[in-house]
Amino acid sequence: MNFKVPRGTQDILPAESWKWQRVEAIIREVCDMYRYKEIRTPIFEQTELFQRTVGDTTDIVTKEMYTFKDRGDRSMTLRPEGTAPVVRSYVENKMFGYPDQPVKLYYQGPMFRYERQQAGRYRQFVQFGVEAIGSADPAIDAEVISLAMEMYKRVGLKDVKLVLNSLGDKESRTAHREALVAHFTPKIDELCSDCQSRLAKNPLRILDCKVDREHPLMATAPSLTDYLNEESATYFEQVKRYLGAIGIEYELDPNLVRGLDYYNHTAFEIMSTADGFGAITTLCGGGRYNGVAEEIGGPPSPGVGYAMSIERLLLAMEAEGKSFTEDAQLDVYVVTLEKAAHEKGFALLQQLRNAGIRADMDYLDRKMKGQMKSADRFNAKAVIVIGEDEVNNGVVQVKNMADGTQEKITDATVIDTLLEKLR
Ligand code: ATP
Ligand code: MG
Repeated sequence: MNFKVPRGTQDILPAESWKWQRVEAIIREVCDMYRYKEIRTPIFEQTELFQRTVGDTTDIVTKEMYTFKDRGDRSMTLRPEGTAPVVRSYVENKMFGYPDQPVKLYYQGPMFRYERQQAGRYRQFVQFGVEAIGSADPAIDAEVISLAMEMYKRVGLKDVKLVLNSLGDKESRTAHREALVAHFTPKIDELCSDCQSRLAKNPLRILDCKVDREHPLMATAPSLTDYLNEESATYFEQVKRYLGAIGIEYELDPNLVRGLDYYNHTAFEIMSTADGFGAITTLCGGGRYNGVAEEIGGPPSPGVGYAMSIERLLLAMEAEGKSFTEDAQLDVYVVTLEKAAHEKGFALLQQLRNAGIRADMDYLDRKMKGQMKSADRFNAKAVIVIGEDEVNNGVVQVKNMADGTQEKITDATVIDTLLEKLR
């Protein structure tokens, strides 16, 4: 029997995993700079949490969740996104009582969606996201957007654009909803069956349909922007002004609605404009979600946040020909030539590591030549050679791999000598 990685998932092998670590380090640096603190929530939650927040009519909830009954007959779901769990934790842990509001959190970890696999679309993918909960200041919307842009900037991406929209508040959305129903009803037969059921349940979702994207009714659909009430319009204006104040450019897209129900007011996506990035160009999506905490039993707690997948960030880097430089160089490789030397080498190896020197040795009892090849492959800066003579005389040979020079060094001074040379 041959086993394969499940469809839509991937192994991240050593040749790639160092890049992930690099991205993770940048995430920590940037979040630290903006005072966002890490939160880690479970991989699974009660199914109802996602139904209530992400929304019953969204693709995520209707088609994409990994839902199962546990042995206690409770319905559980592998988290498809991070906001609902974070808000759940915010409410459950009464973070609304923390003295410093808004509470600024970030998370990073695997999410699960049963999707059709294609480039940039996996069934298990890693999202990094931030949530600022407890403030309705439009400046925090701009802060969150700037944090997202900063991530892409730090990995060297240039071909990215910010697309912005406002979904307005409840009143604005109700007015818009009526206009949408009036617009789509006469020709609803021309749209897919999903859209037909969306018309009654949640007509806004029609605008996010992946099947009918090109249908002429989409381009002529009533725009949310025209239905914003004064308060919503003012809020949107302020967000734009704050973005302007920090030099962040954006494009307006009145049809940007996002794939989750909980958004209101600000909605945004960051897209890659790089040639060859493929059909899916969204790198990051987010927005404001003022009602979510209340929806799950908390006090009113306005929030704003976004999520991006690391997979798509790395794909965008590839499309733009940007890469990290790998720092995979080993400091010292220890070559040993017989059994007694192997023991001495093994003890020395530990001393080297204890001194903060990255070191390794041979465990396959290979000849000198094979061991030297490994030292080359690992790009070792120095090689220590230990044979019978060296064991008997209390010395080692240290070879500098850059210039090929070799010198004999006594056991007592080898660590200090290497520390000096490697500096
Ligand atoms: P899409 O329209 O691409 O399906 P979405 O609206 O479902 O996106 P969100 O739920 O807002 O996306 O997720 C935010 C980000 O997470 C996306 O912009 C993308 O970077 C990433 N993402 C979402 N689904 C996947 C997936 N299946 N594989 C990899 N990354 C994903
Ligand atoms: Mg999706």
